[in-house]
Amino acid sequence: MVTEIRVEKVETSKINTVNFEHLPFGKIFTDHMFECDFVNGEWQQPVIKPYGPLQLDPSARVFHYGQAVFEGMKAYKDDNDNILLFRPHENYLRINISSKRLAIPEFPEDYFFEGLKTLLHLEKDWIKKGRGNSLYIRPFAIASEGAISASPAENYKFMIICSPAQSYYEEEVRVLFSEKYSRSADGGVGFAKAAGNYGAQFYPTSLAQKQGFQQIIWTDASTHEYLEEAGTMNIFFRIGDTLITAPSNDRILDGVTRKCVIQLAEDNNMEVEIRRVRVAEIKEAAKNGTLQEIFGSGTAAVINPIAGFGHGGETFELPKLENSYASFFKEKLMDIQYNTGVDDIHGWCYKV
Ligand code: PMP
Repeated sequence: MVTEIRVEKVETSKINTVNFEHLPFGKIFTDHMFECDFVNGEWQQPVIKPYGPLQLDPSARVFHYGQAVFEGMKAYKDDNDNILLFRPHENYLRINISSKRLAIPEFPEDYFFEGLKTLLHLEKDWIKKGRGNSLYIRPFAIASEGAISASPAENYKFMIICSPAQSYYEEEVRVLFSEKYSRSADGGVGFAKAAGNYGAQFYPTSLAQKQGFQQIIWTDASTHEYLEEAGTMNIFFRIGDTLITAPSNDRILDGVTRKCVIQLAEDNNMEVEIRRVRVAEIKEAAKNGTLQEIFGSGTAAVINPIAGFGHGGETFELPKLENSYASFFKEKLMDIQYNTGVDDIHGWCYKV
């Protein structure tokens, strides 16, 4: 039985000050936030309170050692005003996998789901109907104890904040296959949504941007010969009619969208290969014209088609296809996310 969540509502909502036609991603947050402290070896009573700054000791371990993990998920609204989540249990399991690796205490399932449900019902007006509109949900856990010894903290905060999001115009994305920098290594934290994994990508990505690439496709740290994933997306290649993606392992995040794409491909009798993908093989396929598509999969953009890539001083453009696998998967996934009358055979859509 879940501890009752204490709810402190705002006096006036700020929703009327928000222009839902022009939402900058991740800058506007809803009226409330969920907060739960871990003190004396236990998660305390959770509270939902007005969104606002935190007061933390400057010596809190999160600032010094990056003892922090997070998740990214979305809520949608269907035509009957139901609030929907997409496979939220996967995100719940994954934040605890991440926490375990960062020596953060795992968060109880009933607190997570009760917190999420109460928060989403309170913020229901922030979830707009219509394909592409969503409420981005960011659960995270940080080491809040003030003490700078390099060891796990005694106190933590688990929080959930929400930001309204819009379908954005898809810019053409060109990616650089990494030759020098690495995102993760064997035995490291690549499989976790650890804060530091993301901060460490900003500098190499800024160098790639100067060369005209928006994102990096990370390669394996030991040889840089195998393609692994993008900064916030898993990556798929289509050679001929075969879909290929790297296996998830301790360097690659086990993406929820990736799992769905593989399942949908199998449901539709497509050829799927889950195996290591060589840089040389993709360049060769681009040269001989068999490389049809590259696309990323992730909660933020669902499916993100890649227009071209660079490696070793060479650049390649991908064909513009009428009936791409990327758009097929995107439509299928969005049909389930927005509950548009499709048969959700795997039970991915979750009514809040
Ligand atoms: N890889 C990384 C490194 C990510 O941060 C994300 C976003 N969570 C993904 C892949 C895609 O995962 P998902 O489909 O669960 O959003």
